[in-house]
Amino acid sequence: MLENLLYAYACLLAVLTLMAATNASSDKWPTGHAFRYVALTVAILASFAVNLAITSVAGIPAGGPLAFHAAVILLYVSYPVAATAVALLVAYVVVSNNAELSILAELMPMLGVALGLRVIGRDTYRVTWPVKVVSIASAAAIASIVSTVLSGATLQFVIANLFMTALVVWAGAYFFEREKALRDRRAYWRERAQTDHLTTLYNRSRFERDISILVANGDIGLLLIDADNFKMVNDRFGHEVGDIALTHISQVLYSELADPQKAYRIGGEEFAVIVCDHSSERMMEIAENIRGKIERSSLIVNGRSLKMTVSIGLTIGKRGESPAEVMRQADKSLYRAKDRGRNCVDVFEAAQSAA
Ligand code: GH3
Ligand code: MG
Ligand code: MG
Repeated sequence: MLENLLYAYACLLAVLTLMAATNASSDKWPTGHAFRYVALTVAILASFAVNLAITSVAGIPAGGPLAFHAAVILLYVSYPVAATAVALLVAYVVVSNNAELSILAELMPMLGVALGLRVIGRDTYRVTWPVKVVSIASAAAIASIVSTVLSGATLQFVIANLFMTALVVWAGAYFFEREKALRDRRAYWRERAQTDHLTTLYNRSRFERDISILVANGDIGLLLIDADNFKMVNDRFGHEVGDIALTHISQVLYSELADPQKAYRIGGEEFAVIVCDHSSERMMEIAENIRGKIERSSLIVNGRSLKMTVSIGLTIGKRGESPAEVMRQADKSLYRAKDRGRNCVDVFEAAQSAA
């Protein structure tokens, strides 16, 4: 009885260590970033070490909590990291000469539960909770039977282990899901705060953030796009139609740009596009394509045809230049485009700076 309690306690402590460690390491770098995997691996190794220390102090076999650990890693982290953890576990079994199959017998139902939770718990499977319970229980039961047959362990042993595992995994999953929901909600509101509601393009605040990051890291092309005589569109067709026209401009940007993530609505009828990794000729071509497509397209609203044009100021921001300076240049070109009679692209040249 005491041993069982210690065992459960070791499992829980190991999981808490793991969760704390992965939490501390995971959000600083985006998914796929090498640092993130290094940090996660270090976190997992550290939590393995805590696990081993606890079991050795408590004088209980390490295999169970370690197997449990591997299952939780599979549930929470990622398949590549989980595969590494399982490989480490197998290596531990081999090196410690503790090659009893019962450790693997313990591992199997836990993996069944973890896998079941991971697959069935996904949002894509919108099933009711009784279906989830039955599915997870079936996955775990099949795993138990397979492991019992493989290891020759008693069925009672595997089933008792399975129940405890299911209980702790569920408790863990509950807290994990709660935190994940909180994180998702934060990400959702952050995204919304940076999005223009009318056009769904990013807004000015996101633009200012992006331009400073991008120009600090390399040369960029900046296009400032302003709808021509837009006041007249509103006057003739009404504000609501004006809104539709603005959405139409955003749709042209979506269709013309390889990376629409870098298109922004930075003011009423003013848009910006940041283009990276392209020659100035290519940037000019992109600007011309946008201008031409808006000029050629006609928007039919309430049976009336609405023609629109835009003027574009284009500048190349050199790496390390201040974002405000790059904006000033593009603005200057945009004004020149307006002066030249609108519906055209003007490229900023250094000689203009003095003008
Ligand atoms: P220019 O060619 O010189 O840019 O002329 P313009 O009329 O486009 O420029 P101006 O700055 O005088 O007017 C901009 C107009 O854009 C006025 C404003 O009513 C309209 N506008 C700004 N934001 C919105 C919006 O969200 N919806 C609608 N429908 N109109 C808007
Ligand atoms: Mg305008
Ligand atoms: Mg304007």
